Amino acid sequence: MSLREMEKLAVDEAQKAFSSGRSRPLQYRKQQLRALLRLITEHQADIAAALKQDLNRSEFDTPLFELIGLEHEIKPARKSLVTINDDVYIQAEPLGVVLIIGAWNYPWALTLQPLIGAIAAGNAAVVKPSELSQNSSSLLKQLLPHYLDKEMYPVVTGGVPETQELLRQRFDHIFYTGNSTVGKLIMEAAARHLTPVTLELGGKSPCYIDKNCDIAVACRRITWGKFANCGQTCIAPDYILCHPSIQNKVIEELRLTLLEFYGEEPQTSPDYGRIINQRHFERVLTLMEGCTVAVGGGSDKTQCYIAPTILRDVLPHARIMQEEIFGPVLPIISISDVSEAIHFINEREKPLALYVFSSDKKVIKRMLNETTSGGVVVNDVMMHYTVTSLPFGGVGNSGMGRYHGKHTFDQLSHHRACLIKSLAMESLNKARYPPLTPSRLRR
Ligand code: NAD
Repeated sequence: MSLREMEKLAVDEAQKAFSSGRSRPLQYRKQQLRALLRLITEHQADIAAALKQDLNRSEFDTPLFELIGLEHEIKPARKSLVTINDDVYIQAEPLGVVLIIGAWNYPWALTLQPLIGAIAAGNAAVVKPSELSQNSSSLLKQLLPHYLDKEMYPVVTGGVPETQELLRQRFDHIFYTGNSTVGKLIMEAAARHLTPVTLELGGKSPCYIDKNCDIAVACRRITWGKFANCGQTCIAPDYILCHPSIQNKVIEELRLTLLEFYGEEPQTSPDYGRIINQRHFERVLTLMEGCTVAVGGGSDKTQCYIAPTILRDVLPHARIMQEEIFGPVLPIISISDVSEAIHFINEREKPLALYVFSSDKKVIKRMLNETTSGGVVVNDVMMHYTVTSLPFGGVGNSGMGRYHGKHTFDQLSHHRACLIKSLAMESLNKARYPPLTPSRLRR
């Protein structure tokens, strides 16, 4: 079977399964969601092993970063399906067949989280995990059909040609997670069929450290968010903005925390990950060229290992400031005050996340009021991702649409306006029928 035929078959089957109507009853959706929960619970060890091979992810990070969130998503998703039965109401109906294209950095969370919402809303879905995290992709392709309705939720693996083949087909929604360049291609392909899209993209998420804050605590939280998964997290703090007078203290606190988290030799730490492949390894090293290393800087090509690295006195036009780093390298840029920090942020693309560390309420208020970003966290990093009642998504170049919890259900539903009237009381309608004379309108 040719590539084209294989991709077409998966989509045709999902379309046929959706047309059968079986994804609509609440019972079915609950049953599929329970099965997905069983998959995650029964195969936690296999998932951890695949992630170990893909990203050298610590087995203890697997539940924290990929799976616990999914359990929280599935449980409220089952509870939130309330149908209001009134005369004037909004009917949430499934869109049809959703294409879910995931990225490699969190290969389980980024495919299953949208899938949970797709199921909850009664859609069929074609799931396309990233080819780069190949162990996770193959395991997902192998496991999902054992737990879910395999015609309704087929998994298509493969790289760019397979994805492009899928994009030629007509879907009712495309949910894409990945970089902004490919995001534009996805939107272009979707436009041909007027298919709505959710684009979960990336970018450079700034992290402002105010002089007025507990720098040790701030650096501890930043170190966790930046170096988890070896910096390959869409909402990792990309760079630090701070006053030159606190730069040395920031570097020292980051260094001490790195030592505490990963020891003298992070390369041997079971908690420290690897870069996904040689291409990204070379890319991150090239970004660092010409910068002053304050901590780390080492690398090992044979293992795609890059040491946790802090760069000091980085200039705004340095290469590392031109694209999302997506690796364990943290540049520090000096700014003179909060106004300059705000200006710096606003001069660039709208980020996916913004982090502000300060004890000064006025500074926090200014940062919130005078900047924009997909999400913002004050005095911590990344934790907004775990609050399922908050919509997660980007703005501008960092994406469009939102998801998590009920927001995924809403994103993947059509909110149909329904007005159900009776044929009685026709006399009440007379005023709106012509001929409309002034005297009748006054009555
Ligand atoms: P990737 O290389 O895995 O690509 C993502 C998906 O796009 C894959 O399934 C891949 O097959 C497909 N793809 C790649 N090139 C394509 C092409 N030319 N045409 C059609 N499909 C194509 O992942 P990536 O893009 O390297 O992911 C990293 C980026 O994703 C970063 O920018 C990161 O910030 C962002 N990201 C965003 C979120 C979020 O939730 N907003 C989460 C994770 C990652």
